[in-house]
Amino acid sequence: RIAYVNGSYVLESEARISVFDRGFLFGDSIYEVSAVIGGHLIDNDLHLDRLERSLRELDIPMPLPRNEIVVMQRTLIARNELDEGVVYLQVTRGSEDRNFDYSDTLKPSFVAFTQKKTLQDTAAHRDGIKVGLVDDTRWVRRDIKTTMLLSQVQAKRQVKASGCGEAWMVQDGFITEGASSTAFIITQAGKIVTRPNSRVTLPGCTRLAVLQSAASQNLQVEERLFTPDEAYLACEAFLTSASSFVTPVVEIAGHRIGEGRPGPITRRIQRIYLELALSQSAA
Ligand code: PLP
Repeated sequence: RIAYVNGSYVLESEARISVFDRGFLFGDSIYEVSAVIGGHLIDNDLHLDRLERSLRELDIPMPLPRNEIVVMQRTLIARNELDEGVVYLQVTRGSEDRNFDYSDTLKPSFVAFTQKKTLQDTAAHRDGIKVGLVDDTRWVRRDIKTTMLLSQVQAKRQVKASGCGEAWMVQDGFITEGASSTAFIITQAGKIVTRPNSRVTLPGCTRLAVLQSAASQNLQVEERLFTPDEAYLACEAFLTSASSFVTPVVEIAGHRIGEGRPGPITRRIQRIYLELALSQSAA
């Protein structure tokens, strides 16, 4: 397979970046992950909107015009014959002699690669997953999609021992989000609840697509904070991300959710989101 590194397509085994790159030294970098189904990018405009926003927040220039990024993503998909999986993009501030401060003229580094992955109809989608709860120990600007992911690496590792496929993080008594996903619960009254976007969480692209399709189906949505105790009493729960779509959650911190299997509203949202994704892939 090939990867993209600063304007060149190279074999993955030959893809290299400098040890002086600020992404490596300081985590001074932004990333995005877009899903691919049937060789087509899903929700890619939303991911590129967020890439632009994250870079702007850190004062890193866009490494290429947006339309050229899309051409590059499509080239990687075609050359790697990717039918289903993800395209990963990372933009770092660039490479120079190590110093906390950076030159204003620094040229960003831009790398991308594909990963083959089954995204539809996985065991997790069919049966649901368990999630564990951990303290949210991240920095304060979680709305910026940086590669400083050590808290999330530790969170996932911490809950894996008890058979959990994801960690939901808790701050000041409220669930913020998953380590790499957005958290949703469905109340006994059938309302879909997720935390409003703020600096405390990453504004999920799949979250946005799911909320828009839920609204179009007259499903009731409440964007508000919720506690672990409220989540334990939910009748259904699920999480969303570009690489896991809509995944049912059947247990939270050892508390069985509803009947302990994916519920009807989650199933409906899964179906609606998949239809939306497949319609994009057919376009
Ligand atoms: N929240 C966090 C912390 C994430 O890392 C991710 C994805 O990686 C998400 C939410 C879900 O975002 P998206 O739906 O755009 O993939």
